[in-house]
Amino acid sequence: MIYRNKLETNWMADVNYCIRCGELLKITKVSGAIRPVCENCGWVYFPDPKVAAAGLISDGNRILLVRRSVDPYRGKWTLPAGFIDAGEDPRKAVERECLEETGLCVEVDSLLDVIFGQEHSKGAHIVIVYRVNVLSGTMRPGDDVDQVEFFLLDKLPEIAFTTTLKIIEVLQNAG
Ligand SMILES: [Zn+2]
Repeated sequence: MIYRNKLETNWMADVNYCIRCGELLKITKVSGAIRPVCENCGWVYFPDPKVAAAGLISDGNRILLVRRSVDPYRGKWTLPAGFIDAGEDPRKAVERECLEETGLCVEVDSLLDVIFGQEHSKGAHIVIVYRVNVLSGTMRPGDDVDQVEFFLLDKLPEIAFTTTLKIIEVLQNAG
């Protein structure tokens, strides 16, 4: 049976069965913490953070933002970004996401920031933000966004995420 206790957290609730053998997991102490463990095959559930990559494209005093066409934060604006696939280089992930969402072919220039903190239940725990340079392409929205536009830092639309606001704040203070 599954043992629950006061240390149960949300992430435990979504894993009940062993992904290797299908046995019900037991909540027990392993490697210094309470974790779901399979007593049949020994598999232990160590939850991993979800990691996203975001791209900052600027043309002097303007930055490129995309408008979200999906919930949460539908209709609000953010940097082009998305989850990094398992085994994918974060730099390649941000280039892929920028192309998918903006139509622009970009390459990474430099690392801007790494921000920790999940903002909603489907969100990333860690966001890696790169400055990226546009190589080619024509701006057109795709994937989870329905508009792509450049904005002046002092004339921004409604922003979707705290992470995006943090980046914008850094840029505003630098400018
Ligand atoms: Zn198992």
